[in-house]
Amino acid sequence: MSDDFPILIAEDDPVSRKLLEKILIKAGNKVVSVENGQRALELFNDKFFPIVLTDWMMPEMDGLELCRAIRKNTYPGYVFIILLTAKDSKDDVIMGLRAGADDYLIKPFSHAELVARLNTGKRVLELEKSLKDANEEIRILSITDPLTGTYNRGYMTERLPQEIKRARRYSRALSIILCDIDHFKKVNDTYGHLAGDRVLKDFAQCIRHSIRQDVDWTARYGGEEFLIVLPETDVNGGSVMAERLQSELSQRVTETQGKKISITASFGVTGFSPDTPDEMISPEAMISKADKYLYQAKREGRNRVMGEALD
Ligand SMILES: [Mg+2]
Repeated sequence: MSDDFPILIAEDDPVSRKLLEKILIKAGNKVVSVENGQRALELFNDKFFPIVLTDWMMPEMDGLELCRAIRKNTYPGYVFIILLTAKDSKDDVIMGLRAGADDYLIKPFSHAELVARLNTGKRVLELEKSLKDANEEIRILSITDPLTGTYNRGYMTERLPQEIKRARRYSRALSIILCDIDHFKKVNDTYGHLAGDRVLKDFAQCIRHSIRQDVDWTARYGGEEFLIVLPETDVNGGSVMAERLQSELSQRVTETQGKKISITASFGVTGFSPDTPDEMISPEAMISKADKYLYQAKREGRNRVMGEALD
C-alpha cells in the first residue's frame, strides 16, 4: 500500500533529512524532501502529498506554521501530518496537535516507530479513499437508470439547465431529441415484460452508439421515452441525428427467448442557435416543443422525425 501515498519531508537539518529519506525509501515509499516549511508549501501548490512529515524547528516557516497553512487550504484529499520534535512537554504536544498535526514523534525516534506511525497514517488515508470510492459509486447509482444504464430523469433535470446555460454563455447552438418507441405496449403484451426490458435496453444501447461520445448524452425520460441532448448542434443537425437513429433502428433486431423483435420509434426535435432570443429558451420550453413534435410524429403515422427550432 505504501507507494500510493507519496510523502513530503520538511526538515532543515541535512543529516536528519537524508536519514529520513533513506528510512522511508527503504520502507517502499516515494519521498520528496525540502529544507523548510515555506518550500514545502510551495511544492504543495504543484503537487499533492497525502502525507507530510515535518520538523518543528525550521527557519523561514516552522512545522507549526506549515500545519496551520495546510489545514487552511483545500486539497484533493486529506493530508496526514506527522510532526517531528525534540519538544516533549505535554503543552508542546497539545500545541502541535492544535496546529493541525495528526500525530507526533519525539526525537530521537526509532526507525520502527516512524514506519509504524506512517502506517497508521496510511490506514486513515485508505479509509478516506474507500469512503470516497463508496460515495462515488452511490453518486453514479443515483444518476443512472438501472434498467438501461443511461442517465435517469433526475440527472436530466439537473444537467439540461446547465447545458443550456453553457451553450448561451459561449454562443453555441444546442438541440434535443425526445424519442419514444412505437407501440411499445404491444411488445410487452405480445412477448412479455422481460422481452420488453430487452427491447428497452437495446434501444438505449442503439442511442448510445449513435451519439458522439463525451459530448452528447441521453437520459431515460419516462417508460419508453428517452431524451438526447446534442451540444453545439442546431435543430437541423439534431434532425439529421434523429434520422440516423431511425435508420439504425430499422436495421436492428432484438433477439430474446428465441424470438426476433423489430421496433421503430418516433422523434421530436427542437433546438436553438446563438441568435435565438433569451426569453424563448428554457428547459421547459425545449422539452415542451420537442414533446409537441414527438406527438405530431406519432399522429402522422409514427416511425418519423419531426421538429422545429425554438424562435
Ligand atoms: Mg529543525
